[in-house]
Amino acid sequence: MDGARTRGQTAALDAIAAMIRGQTAPHAILLVGPDGVGKTTLALDLAAGLLCEADPQRRPCRSCRACRMVEHDGHPDLHRLGPAGPGRQVVIGGPEARYRGVRDVIAELALMPVEGRARVAIVEGAERMNEDAQSALLKTLEEPPTGVVIVLCADQETRLLPTVRSRCARIRLGLVGSRDIEAIVADHDLADPPLAARLGRLAAGRPGLALAYARAPEAVLIRAELSRVLLDLTGTGSAARLAAVRSAIPRAIALAAALTGGDDGQPGARPTRRRGRAVPAGAAPAAGNDPEDGATDDPDDGRGRLVPASERRRAAEIVVALWADVARDLALVGAGGGRSVRDPVLLEELTAAAAAVDPEAVARFLDRAARGAELLASNVSPELLLDSLALAWPRRRAAA
Ligand SMILES: [Zn+2]
Repeated sequence: MDGARTRGQTAALDAIAAMIRGQTAPHAILLVGPDGVGKTTLALDLAAGLLCEADPQRRPCRSCRACRMVEHDGHPDLHRLGPAGPGRQVVIGGPEARYRGVRDVIAELALMPVEGRARVAIVEGAERMNEDAQSALLKTLEEPPTGVVIVLCADQETRLLPTVRSRCARIRLGLVGSRDIEAIVADHDLADPPLAARLGRLAAGRPGLALAYARAPEAVLIRAELSRVLLDLTGTGSAARLAAVRSAIPRAIALAAALTGGDDGQPGARPTRRRGRAVPAGAAPAAGNDPEDGATDDPDDGRGRLVPASERRRAAEIVVALWADVARDLALVGAGGGRSVRDPVLLEELTAAAAAVDPEAVARFLDRAARGAELLASNVSPELLLDSLALAWPRRRAAA
């Protein structure tokens, strides 16, 4: 499938190519895989292939009118939906609702195709549909209108109702190799070769993350700064550690904002908010004055701005993931594997720290960080979790 934008997902691409060639795509497809591995890109490859006007063997051709409309997110028979708003949920929607949701897509799919061929709906972050939204979609999954293909993209399929999952043909996507990620960054013409190579490693198998970093050079800087802060904590006492993780939260929020470009992520060119003030493209979502934020009694971000709980949780997730990366690199360098560290920029500091900490303490910390990441998905306080990690972080032995 020469026209595919997806790279490094051979099995998944083969499955999609067979659906396009055979013209027998299932009516509902579930793309499952970690965040940033390319589920949306693959869904768009499938959409382009199904809507393309070229000879079946050449689909998607990437040059016909239909392919170009898919590429520019303007095909009238391609309906996209994704998480919206401060809670980043895929909402149920409907004519009176604040954000576009499942009901809106269902209503669109009930109409005739504009171009007279297939119609494709893509739901990103499908695991972020609550039960009502999933139930609303279920009926369409059970009895889809003719020619309709619904593609659900999900990081965690266990959050989907069993009845929803059982209606879908499942395609799994795995982590992508660093060389493929490097090539994807190069395809987008976003970074010079050395930076593309660095991002290929930093992204740890997720081309979507590499592209986000490539589009936001300041995010690469903040990431390195935060990694260095965490690494330096091996040489400090408890009070300094607790203070440092508290100040890491606003930096992680800045990192998240840089990586998302400040939007709230709903795909498609349609306006995100239906009522009230429209959010200009690229503007940071208003926080603290939105009744859906639950922001009223939340801590501020150090500059007096109230930070919604969802944002603090995301920030803590970023810190925990970075921390695990630093710990993994520390363990690698300690075991003599310095050439495979995630970010070579820190190699010197990593080498010094690795010589002074107990490798077993690093291994124990990695377990705790993994458990911490799971706890964050439940309702644990982000601040308390970071505090406990700060105290568990290995300490350097005093120099002899
Ligand atoms: Zn085409």
